[in-house]
Amino acid sequence: MVTAGSRAAWPGAVMAEPSAAEQRWLQAARDFARRALPACEGPGGPEPQPLDAVLRCLRSAGGGDLPLGYSFVSISDLQHQQCVPCCSHLTWSTNEFKEWAQQGQSVLPMQSALPRAYLILVGYITDGRQEDKEKLVDGCLYLKDNTGIIPCELLNFELEWLESLFLFPSWSYIPQTDQSAAGYVEILVDPVPVHLPKEVPDSIPVTYPASAELLLTSRIPCKKRSKLTVAGELARLGPLLCIRHKTFFFLFLKCFISAVCVPVLVRKPNQLAWHHTLRLGHRYTITGLSMSNLKKSGQRMFVTSVSSCLLPYCAEQVREQPLDSVCQGESTQSSSLETVEQLSDSLEMEVEEERPGSTKESKIISYVGTVTKILNVQAGLFLLDNKVCLCLAYQQLLNSARGLRPGAYLELIDVHLLQKPLVSFPFIVLGACLNSTVVLKSFSRLSTPYQPSASSGNLYLQLLFRYNLGMPLYLWLVSLLEMFEERFSCFFGHRRLVLSSTHRNPGAAEKFLVPLLQGLVPDGEEARDIYNEILAKIHQCPLQKYLTLNPLCQAPSLSAVCHMAEQKSWEDFSPSHLLSPLEAQHMGTQELNRRLAWSYCTLSAESFQPRLILLGVLRVSSRSSSLQLQDRSSTLPCVISHKDGSPFADTALLGSLLQVENYQLVVERFLQTDFPSWEQLANLEHVREKKNSVYVQFYVEDVQVLHAAEGQIQKGLRSGNSSALRKKDDGSLTSELEIPKAKVLKLEDPKPDTHRDENCQGGQSSTGRTSCVSHLFLVTQKEGLMLRNYQLPREEGGEGQELQRSFQATVLWLGRPQLWSHPREIANLPELEETSCDGEEGMTRQEALLLFMGKSLRWFPFLHLDGLYRFIVPHCSDLEVFDKLCFPPVPAKFLSRSSCPLCLPVQDTWYLQHQTWISCLTENQLAARSVLTGVDQRISSIPEVLSNSFTGSLVSFSGEIVERTLCASPKNEKPSVTLGLQKQKGSLLASDHSVKLSIAVAPGSPVVVDIYIAATYLQHLWGLLPGAKILVQNLERKISRFHNVYCTYIASSCVNIISLPASHLPFPSSSAGEASSPLLVFLSSLQPHLQHLPQARILCHLSCVLTLSLQWVCSLCSSIFREGRCTRHNPPCPSHVGVRQASARVLVEDGTGEALVLCRNQHVAAVLGLSLPEWEALQNCVQSRGRVSIQHGEATGTGCVEEPEDLIACYLRSLCRSPLICRPILLDFSLDRKPSKILQPAPLQLRNFRCGEVEFVSQVGPRLSLLCLNVEEVEQDALSYLNSERIRRTSTHCRVGATA
Ligand SMILES: [Zn+2]
Ligand SMILES: [Zn+2]
Repeated sequence: MVTAGSRAAWPGAVMAEPSAAEQRWLQAARDFARRALPACEGPGGPEPQPLDAVLRCLRSAGGGDLPLGYSFVSISDLQHQQCVPCCSHLTWSTNEFKEWAQQGQSVLPMQSALPRAYLILVGYITDGRQEDKEKLVDGCLYLKDNTGIIPCELLNFELEWLESLFLFPSWSYIPQTDQSAAGYVEILVDPVPVHLPKEVPDSIPVTYPASAELLLTSRIPCKKRSKLTVAGELARLGPLLCIRHKTFFFLFLKCFISAVCVPVLVRKPNQLAWHHTLRLGHRYTITGLSMSNLKKSGQRMFVTSVSSCLLPYCAEQVREQPLDSVCQGESTQSSSLETVEQLSDSLEMEVEEERPGSTKESKIISYVGTVTKILNVQAGLFLLDNKVCLCLAYQQLLNSARGLRPGAYLELIDVHLLQKPLVSFPFIVLGACLNSTVVLKSFSRLSTPYQPSASSGNLYLQLLFRYNLGMPLYLWLVSLLEMFEERFSCFFGHRRLVLSSTHRNPGAAEKFLVPLLQGLVPDGEEARDIYNEILAKIHQCPLQKYLTLNPLCQAPSLSAVCHMAEQKSWEDFSPSHLLSPLEAQHMGTQELNRRLAWSYCTLSAESFQPRLILLGVLRVSSRSSSLQLQDRSSTLPCVISHKDGSPFADTALLGSLLQVENYQLVVERFLQTDFPSWEQLANLEHVREKKNSVYVQFYVEDVQVLHAAEGQIQKGLRSGNSSALRKKDDGSLTSELEIPKAKVLKLEDPKPDTHRDENCQGGQSSTGRTSCVSHLFLVTQKEGLMLRNYQLPREEGGEGQELQRSFQATVLWLGRPQLWSHPREIANLPELEETSCDGEEGMTRQEALLLFMGKSLRWFPFLHLDGLYRFIVPHCSDLEVFDKLCFPPVPAKFLSRSSCPLCLPVQDTWYLQHQTWISCLTENQLAARSVLTGVDQRISSIPEVLSNSFTGSLVSFSGEIVERTLCASPKNEKPSVTLGLQKQKGSLLASDHSVKLSIAVAPGSPVVVDIYIAATYLQHLWGLLPGAKILVQNLERKISRFHNVYCTYIASSCVNIISLPASHLPFPSSSAGEASSPLLVFLSSLQPHLQHLPQARILCHLSCVLTLSLQWVCSLCSSIFREGRCTRHNPPCPSHVGVRQASARVLVEDGTGEALVLCRNQHVAAVLGLSLPEWEALQNCVQSRGRVSIQHGEATGTGCVEEPEDLIACYLRSLCRSPLICRPILLDFSLDRKPSKILQPAPLQLRNFRCGEVEFVSQVGPRLSLLCLNVEEVEQDALSYLNSERIRRTSTHCRVGATA
């Protein structure tokens, strides 16, 4: 029967014997049909065999011949074997195809046309209703055969095509770029029905074309049950929408004879395919409608029922209806063309009259154009004609943006035109709202890829709808999210970052964006009412009004952050800002340039416009042993502190995505200059080199974790190099979260520093794959990073000679190693709990020296004194793993002796986990604490360090940095290790420099100790800024020639930043002391133990000027400079720049004591009471002489030579002897730490003093030696006030002195 049917349907086959090629082709066709085409049973008996019908179709299409050059393709083969876009045109000649392709290319010349494939596509068109009962009919059309189903897009669709078999003569297949999902088919030419077309049933039910108008205009309430049929012209077609898993759309039928429109809600799944067939301006009849009104607004509309049908409106069947439709017709097309021209006019006009800051109203226009670029498919942004951006986001984009490829031709009807909604957005925007219609007029002929938009879990659209965003905010949101994806999807995978999940567990991007949006869109803002948008008589939608938005914050890539910070730091940089001109004019070349060499500036989020939010993945570099924030573009070193002053040790944060808004971005500036003197400071030609390094510091408390790292150890378990492990997929862990390995940037350094065998498992890897061993310990000492001469016994010879970058820490093991079946099981401090039961038995006290090298250097920023940590050895079940690795290998009997610390090299594979601080142990862990009581208090106070009775040579203390200065390294203190250090790449300070940090107990505290750090150590010492509180450990305590105590940073030293400087702190040149006026004291109260007082003030009487010297010295060699030349002759000095210098020693008394004050430079003028012009004139006079010195008769043997004949000297001498000089002054001073050469310590003696009219006797100690910091004249009124105040406050003191 089959054969007979076949013959009958295919008479040509008997006429000529098919050729061998044709035979083969037919065989392939039969194979295809068997596989792909269903043997369908028609309702009225067996249908003809599909293949025969298909072949008949092909013959008629090909003019009688079979297309032997083409082969059949099944849907499944298309999906799985066709990886690149292609098109197939069954009946076209090569020339026809070429012409077609060239036309397409003219739109976008850079794109190639779709390549031609020679494939025959046969299949059924369906709306998905018969596929999967579970699957929602989503309003899309599909192509299916027995092998599969694929979405398809048609420009033209008839409802009766559904579920019929078609031959597709012309189509394109567009695979999805992401291989995980299928592509789709674009049907270019109407399909050819394989079976003879079914008779369209003309059993159209009764229609009421005339009553429609009546019904609508009069709004006669009709019986609820009655179903109506409405005919009209399609005036508007809304987009497919999906709200709460219900898909629907609205259409509007216009009355033929009036402008009245009726809305029809189409919501039954089997009617969603109507959306593809409806054409604006065409006339339709819809049956089975009922009337309904919205609960909220009472708006009325028609709603389809299950039985509703969409029928083309036939004039014959409604003869009673007078067709007065002259004004109708194909008006849409022409009107849209008119408005296109209007658009270009209006663009130019509006650009001119654009006023910022005022609310603008968007115009509603129509537009036709070609998609030239997909800007962001998830956000629904497309570029048309290279000049306008089309935003489809407000329409939900339910068809996954199929067909919207570059080259596609679109017609937009009633879209909003927005000029510059966002300052940073380069295009004019056409926003399609729910009233707009977007029609795909023709498919792209170009081989441009298809990027599907996700309709579910699309964060862009979700946030748009949730917060009812206007276009400016939406575009800003898109820019933030795009940047976010760009920066971090390589770490976490796109899905986990951007795809929105349920509200309970928001993704990283959502965590980042939602607070920003909540701040902008207050809760009071009404939610978007989409029904009102669609149905309201007067159009209402979020796109109508807009205000050009200035972005409120930015989160640029880290490389951009660094760039911006660098720019900002140099932007208004001027060398003269770093120095006070009063000081600078007296500086020699060397000092001047050294003072300029190192400076910094700090920037906060608000320093940038708009506010800058920092985002980054926290990682630690084992190469630099520093914490870093990382994104795709770059890394930014960071210093993290706790607000309570405890060090940062949170190992669990490693690998997490952090957001910081409260931070200090520090730019350290390194300048190489050769300014001859301060007068040239404005001439930037003397700046030879500018370098900078950028880092950021912040508090953990200010961090928001956007994406928590999965446990580092667990990650290690999965990516461990045991292949057995990888096979055993523990789906319980994170199988769903697994990221493709290749796409994920390694968080660790790409290059491992050293290679050492992971020998802990040895032969026992079979015993437990996920088991691990841990050991708890307390850090009792930590040393700095150094090149150390370590050679591991295991290591191969040869390269062992090289110094190893390493650090070491002394620790106390707590309890015994513990075995865990999985890292997840690790409980909190059972070692300490157990001791509370077993007493001392459970706790063995054993010291060890941990040695960190290679990869384990990454633990450097986390390991801190007094911290309880745990080492976790993954894939290990050997409880003796720690003992076995110790060296030198010790017999077991010594292991329990605490007297002999063992050296344990920390293995690369081990994980460090911070548990707690010793000060945070709970009550029931106190038993363990008692074991630790033997641990010494190792932190001293600064006064202790300064005290003469201090005996240790290594000191640890904490304090606040008061001042940071760059000094020339004292030659005798250059650490010998420097020579051994390899060429330091990151070091931006000259290696012969060192940094002096002045550390005070607290800001303003008089007790200060100086720390000298050689530049070579400074490479990674970030955060050493004035105002920062630091903990320094193992510094070498030294005593200077002048018996001052200071400290130097040595190999074993280490610095921790405990707290960050207050963020308002300005440039380093302004010292903290200037903010508040110094403490007013008495000379007698300056006890010897207060020798480190930085600054104080006395009200005193200037008794006499002992010496005075004014010089003009060479800026290079400090020889005397005379008449524009340096006087040094052997060797001759090339310098042409002289610097004025002045110094004076004066004697002051304040009634309680006497002091010798050394004044320099500008203070000399102040002491002499000279005005600035007088001082200038005087110094100019000195220039011709080189030097002028005078001395008071009382002082002898100072080496100053008097020149009695010199006028200037005479003038100065008479000035100094004048009674005008002897006057009350307010003197700011610091103690001169150098002992006076003139004055020897003397015993207490009685002296006469005058206080106004009163003369009295006081007992005074030895003269103090002071350094003048500032001199102020005292007015008579102020003087009497200060005097009385002084007497009132300390009358006891004076009386005691007077009666003694
Ligand atoms: Zn609108
Ligand atoms: Zn010189």
